[in-house]
Amino acid sequence: MKIHLQQIPDEGKHFEGEANPAILELSEPYIVPESPVRYSLDVGISEGGLFATGSLELDLRLRCVRCLDEFPFPVRIRDFACQVELTGNETVDLTPLAREDILLALPAHPHCDWDGQKPCEAPVGGLLNRGSEPSPNPQDGNRTSAVWGQLDQLNFEKE
Ligand SMILES: [Zn+2]
Repeated sequence: MKIHLQQIPDEGKHFEGEANPAILELSEPYIVPESPVRYSLDVGISEGGLFATGSLELDLRLRCVRCLDEFPFPVRIRDFACQVELTGNETVDLTPLAREDILLALPAHPHCDWDGQKPCEAPVGGLLNRGSEPSPNPQDGNRTSAVWGQLDQLNFEKE
């Protein structure tokens, strides 16, 4: 994602292309790129330096922290924007800036049900609690629904 300054006319220029996902320098084994980094950028030069706005896209495979299932996760950054001061070099490399934005878009704790398309199959309460919980008491159930009833009431009164 190197931009040659001489390629940019006064009115700016549109750049589109694909970069190898290796530019992300991902070291986590459970973050697996499944596509190149696609970019579509409008680049221009102003007094402040070189500026670029546009979008970055990449498809990843992540692992759910709860059920350990792998799932596809699309990264779609529609409002990428950066400004780089010109230092006299003929080229400006936008790679580190793109990398930073993409890494920021990744969830710190990936969950496979992030988009609501699929329920997470992790056991309720986690594996450790299994079998040690007392059997459900119907009276507890009633108390719980009474509490929810009150909460519903509160919500209703607020509106
Ligand atoms: Zn899951």
